[in-house]
Amino acid sequence: MKEQDCFRRFLFEELGVRGEWVRLQDSWQEAKQHQRLSDTVQEQLGQALAAVVLLSATIKFDGSLILQAQGTGALKTLVAQSTHDRKIRGLARSDGEVTNGLLSEMMGDGRLVITVEPAKGEPYQGIVSLAGSKLADVIISYFSQSEQLETRVWLFANETHAAGLFLQELPVQESYKADWERITMLANTVTKDEMLSLDSEEVLYRLFNEEKVRLFEAEPVVFECGCSRKKIESTLLALGREELEDILQELNSIDVACEFCGKKYSFDKVDVENLLSGQTVEKPSQTHH
Ligand SMILES: [Zn+2]
Repeated sequence: MKEQDCFRRFLFEELGVRGEWVRLQDSWQEAKQHQRLSDTVQEQLGQALAAVVLLSATIKFDGSLILQAQGTGALKTLVAQSTHDRKIRGLARSDGEVTNGLLSEMMGDGRLVITVEPAKGEPYQGIVSLAGSKLADVIISYFSQSEQLETRVWLFANETHAAGLFLQELPVQESYKADWERITMLANTVTKDEMLSLDSEEVLYRLFNEEKVRLFEAEPVVFECGCSRKKIESTLLALGREELEDILQELNSIDVACEFCGKKYSFDKVDVENLLSGQTVEKPSQTHH
């Protein structure tokens, strides 16, 4: 059976190098089915989803990890999110036609923000400039800023699959520079075709058949949107009473569809009134003199 929607870690035991491999199929289809994306934009979103899965296994957290790229180019936004147990979702927004090219051309000036939202406690962020020819380059520069460990990332996506490969040197006393060079040089020969069509064992065998690689058990990746009526309610509340009442003057209800999963949420006048009065109970308005 083919490995799909699957994440695996591996280790070069004698070399002080660790790795990760991911390939998405059904989760990739589900993640993009509620969005109309051109092939070019789709490729970027698939890469971002593969990247967030790789990151989810590299950064320690319990909650959500969000990778968000925002730029001034035709490709405006890329969002990919993974929980610690690898439930993923993502979205892309563009304005006009996005011409396939370097990431810095498609997205223009901008930045990549990596946010960890722990289940308990305060969120924290890492920010890196979008300057780079590919998303993988931006992720690599994120690691060279945040951890002082050599890291390499390869990301690929097409209509049917998204895949990623990750290598990082282990924090060891004596650095095995020659080994690291050799392993990354071998990994650099990986092709998009291989990554999108082969299982992890086949990929690792093709790249590193002369090396001793320990491959760990497969872990599943699934599409799951964490949206809820409660979260939509807080978004509506943030608009404020005036804005909500304006909308309800023209429409009988406020209908919101989740951008990630397409789920529809409807709020009629009574719902909105309840929402607003609930807010008043929680946060009594203050009069300033
Ligand atoms: Zn949703």
